[in-house]
Amino acid sequence: MKKVITCLLATFGLTTACVQANYDNIDVLGFASLTEETDVIVLDVRTAEEYAEGHIAGAVNIDQGEDDFLEQAKSRLSAEKRIAVYCRSGRRSAKASGKLSDAGYRCINLKGGIKAWEKAGMPTTTDSYEVDVFKTGNGKSIRIHALMHSCIRIEYDGREIEVDPVGRMGERVVDYASMPKADYIFVTHEHGDHYDASAIKVLSKETTRLIMNKRCADMYGAGTAMANGDRLQLAEDIEVEAVPAYNTTEGHLQFHPKGRDNGYILTLDGFRIYIAGDTEDIAEMSEIKDIDIAFLPCNQPYTMTPAQLVRASKVVRPGVLFPYHYGNTDVNVIPSELLGEGVDVRIRHYE
Ligand code: ZN
Ligand code: ZN
Repeated sequence: MKKVITCLLATFGLTTACVQANYDNIDVLGFASLTEETDVIVLDVRTAEEYAEGHIAGAVNIDQGEDDFLEQAKSRLSAEKRIAVYCRSGRRSAKASGKLSDAGYRCINLKGGIKAWEKAGMPTTTDSYEVDVFKTGNGKSIRIHALMHSCIRIEYDGREIEVDPVGRMGERVVDYASMPKADYIFVTHEHGDHYDASAIKVLSKETTRLIMNKRCADMYGAGTAMANGDRLQLAEDIEVEAVPAYNTTEGHLQFHPKGRDNGYILTLDGFRIYIAGDTEDIAEMSEIKDIDIAFLPCNQPYTMTPAQLVRASKVVRPGVLFPYHYGNTDVNVIPSELLGEGVDVRIRHYE
């Protein structure tokens, strides 16, 4: 890798200022190996339209041409990670790498951009959502698609799992008709941002297993109702446990009364994913252990404040934390609050 020194010459009267920006340039093969590293975030700095046409799997998209590029970057990219940056040809990514390294990030720029990547026969994807990729201890693949708010799509070893599928929230739309039918659908509770009968219908096939809390199963007229504390073995390598999700703050108790709604812990080939549902930082979280990934909600007055979410994270101690269900809440404060706690905080589009 070659260090790039960008020297910007600015003349102020008679003074010449030299500003140095440091980042590394790397070729396609080096970049490909970076995409496998867990301490690396792959960043696509092209426009959303270019991103939608095809991008490197798992890449976060922030358009470097937007005025708030740096603000967005700071909110979505952990400063503890290395940032692997690319664009179409390498020019915009060099510019972005310069800006980011000035802001304290360690950047690696893909030489020749995605044009070089594709020329080398490397794969791209047209997934319209950010995807995070994980592997179980036995090497089975888990791909998590950040659809919106509390809607999560999980591809697990050839099976499709949907959590709280909802087709529309305000202006935002998830086109479930364009997605594969689900093998498993989990619904936490009846609120419109979690339960959408038409989305469930669109995703269902004859063999779909539908898991819900009792209220939703009654409303839908089908599915398996789980109560807090219930466990189900859905396949040899898929287990689900329903866990409590409720409010504890005076004046908020009516939103999610204790015992009615579910959070879920999915255990996929030993890999444990905690989807908290709409809850505050309840005492029962101290029983939740060995979590690889946690989804914790953050919005007022319905779920947690960022401070509560940080508290909950310190109790559950997941390997990776996705703050979700956050609406307009500023979740940017969360990564710094959890620095040094061993929790990899990933902010995705779960507004
Ligand atoms: Zn709710
Ligand atoms: Zn909700």
